Amino acid sequence: MSEAYAPSDSDAHATADELDARDELAHRRKDFVLDGTVYLDGNSLGALPRSVPARLAEVVEREWGELRIRSWSESGWWSAPERIGDRIAPLVGAGAGQTVVGDSTSVNVFKAVVAALRIARGEDGGRDEVLVDAATFPTDGYIAESAARMTGATVRAVPAAEMADAAGPATAVALVNHVDYRTGELNDLPAATAAVHRAGGRIVWDVCHSAGALPVELDASGADFAVGCTYKYLNGGPGSPAFLYVRRELQPRFETPLPGWTSHADPFGMTPGYVPGDGASRGRVGTPDILSMLALEEALKVWDGVDIAAVRAKSLALTDFFLRRVQAYVPDGRLRPLTPLEHRRRGSQVSLLCTGDEGGGGAGPAPDAEVVMTALQARGVVGDFRRPGVLRFGFTPLYTSFADAERAAAALGEAVRTA
Ligand SMILES: *Cc1c(COP(=O)(O)O)cnc(C)c1O
Repeated sequence: MSEAYAPSDSDAHATADELDARDELAHRRKDFVLDGTVYLDGNSLGALPRSVPARLAEVVEREWGELRIRSWSESGWWSAPERIGDRIAPLVGAGAGQTVVGDSTSVNVFKAVVAALRIARGEDGGRDEVLVDAATFPTDGYIAESAARMTGATVRAVPAAEMADAAGPATAVALVNHVDYRTGELNDLPAATAAVHRAGGRIVWDVCHSAGALPVELDASGADFAVGCTYKYLNGGPGSPAFLYVRRELQPRFETPLPGWTSHADPFGMTPGYVPGDGASRGRVGTPDILSMLALEEALKVWDGVDIAAVRAKSLALTDFFLRRVQAYVPDGRLRPLTPLEHRRRGSQVSLLCTGDEGGGGAGPAPDAEVVMTALQARGVVGDFRRPGVLRFGFTPLYTSFADAERAAAALGEAVRTA
């Protein structure tokens, strides 16, 4: 570490050290490959769990190289999508048998929205509207639009906070992001789910930014479908396969728009007619991407024995501490938190909007987010930015320390001054 990040506030350093000493998750950090940089981009690509490279080498050399085709059964390749889904399930409040891993989040959004539309219209043919979170990650909106076009439905963009009031007799499906990827705002999953159900519609949750970051409680809230990625807080690796949750009661009525042969009741019967399999396996499509899947399976071992409530408590403590330290280091009026300060509305990231002279303190023009992030990276702190002017910092409680948060805030103060 260079002297550039030397303590400018020794009390804060002592506080960070004390918080780290009391942190019950601190011991998990050693399970990840990290270096001297402060990595606050785990909400985009999680860090590499230390045990993954050896497991991948074993899969390639032994299971593929030596056992070859036998591995589909002997190494458990065929059943990997359901097995790994069940490993993710407890992290999103789901009982076994409802979560299947495969494809990208984008593809799973398509499966879930079309299947939800079919169910809603099966109950009431007059429902022709898909409500989409107005601030959604773009892929969800694009896919919902296409799904609606293919099925003769229409899409209406609604702010997530207004979803409950917007749902009505025409609502077939609501598609909502649990956490806003740009601002880090946490939406009320149980309340929106209950409201959409009262209106007679179905709800699909995108939990990309909450799975592995905070309690999701899919079963308890009665959510119909959920999709999520595994390369963010679940550390599955670049492009690791996503997951699809289909509530147990809906599984017999879950008609996938992508009935690939691996979701067939008798895939090796190779029959001409499609007969869906049972349970979550209906969410499968084609041959599973085994290398990515088994890397993810190994990566998920870092969650063994981890209580998601402890992850949430640490995430809130980390983001509170970071926000306080940013306030101490960054000149007034230069950065404004977009992430809600209220705990019940905050995900596991802090988004700061680059602003100009809002405080009236002569702080000058708005710093350019890209320039600030480049200056920050030069100081060994990695976050990212989203246009226009948003700096994002992801806090991953399994490997982010309070000392990291302190160092990042100090470096951010310098980066803003020099940008
Ligand atoms: C990251 C993210 C995605 C990514 O979708 P892919 O198909 O994996 O590229 C989708 N939705 C949300 C809310 C995300 O944050």
